[in-house]
Amino acid sequence: MAGEPQPDCLFCKIVAGDIPATVVRRTERVLAFRDIAPKAPVHVLVIPHVHYPNAAELAAAEPEIAGELLAEAGLVARDEGVEDYRLIFNTGTGAGQTVFHAHVHVLGGKPMTESMV
Ligand code: AMP
Repeated sequence: MAGEPQPDCLFCKIVAGDIPATVVRRTERVLAFRDIAPKAPVHVLVIPHVHYPNAAELAAAEPEIAGELLAEAGLVARDEGVEDYRLIFNTGTGAGQTVFHAHVHVLGGKPMTESMV
């Protein structure tokens, strides 16, 4: 069924508590934890408990959870004390996605003025 945990998914295992993570926020539907290989002083991943392979598929199937994901990303930035931050949704291998469970990167704490867009 859509959204069900996948046995070989790293982030499903983190949601289940089978793999440890440094959790910074948790709600009934969303989890935020520190990236294991931080690219900035603040680098937190925000993920839904339910399994969808990317953020767009999450939003199409469960828009309320996708909205909560974004709201939680903002609360992570607030909690971490960063006013300026970048949200990144890598989608597809060619865009750098390596974990196929929807997530948003919250990056901050250093100047990030270079832009691809
Ligand atoms: P992406 O490349 O957009 O799929 O992002 C996946 C992110 O997950 C990368 O930034 C990894 O550093 C991070 N990551 C991989 N394994 C773990 C883990 N066990 N705990 C926390 N972050 C992880």
